[in-house]
Amino acid sequence: MTETAAGLSRLHSVHRDIARVREALARGPRQVRARRKAVQNKEADIAAMREKLVALKKSGDAKNLQLRTNEEKILGLKAKLNQASTNEVFAALRKEIDADTASNAVLEDEILETLDRVDAFSKEIQAALADRDKRSEDADALEKKVAEEKAGLEEDLVALEKRLQQSESIIPSSLQVDYRRLVEHHGANAMAPVEDRVCTSCQTTVSPQQKVQLNMGEFVFCRSCGRLLYRGDDAGA
Ligand SMILES: [Zn+2]
Repeated sequence: MTETAAGLSRLHSVHRDIARVREALARGPRQVRARRKAVQNKEADIAAMREKLVALKKSGDAKNLQLRTNEEKILGLKAKLNQASTNEVFAALRKEIDADTASNAVLEDEILETLDRVDAFSKEIQAALADRDKRSEDADALEKKVAEEKAGLEEDLVALEKRLQQSESIIPSSLQVDYRRLVEHHGANAMAPVEDRVCTSCQTTVSPQQKVQLNMGEFVFCRSCGRLLYRGDDAGA
């Protein structure tokens, strides 16, 4: 391996290490945000469930009120029944009482059913609250872990940036502009090893002249993808 290839390989590896540390620094907060979002979604679910529960209780209350109103009405009808002067009036009152009694029986069933649903729904909300608390604790724990790891990662990054500067001294000043542009566009993949005479970034075969230049330790850019090339360990010379 030429000195140029060794230097570029080192530089490439520092770039990749920096990308890895940066990704680790970004990943933690990203995961924390995702978990916080899940807690928020759960909160929204719970709020919607609570609204439904309120509506359900209201409908139960309305049915109860209707039941009591009907009961009073039936009492009134029964009082009238006792004072009925004719058979027709008596029969009509009897019919009305029977109808109201039947509709109250239906109402009572509905009220019981509503109570059951309120009970089941309350339990669902309790379970959702417990789930939200668990998710919230998980998010707190992850946030703490991410915060603890942050300082170490930042230290690694500072050390790597320093190593990058040193490793970049291999780039001749005449190629600095091209190199910067490549790094700006492709980040850690600004350079590519040539293996079996092929650019490992875009799989284009290097020209015979480029192969000679690489063997001589010259700086060569891929004809196709523009990456700064260097001989990989097993480059067929
Ligand atoms: Zn290429």
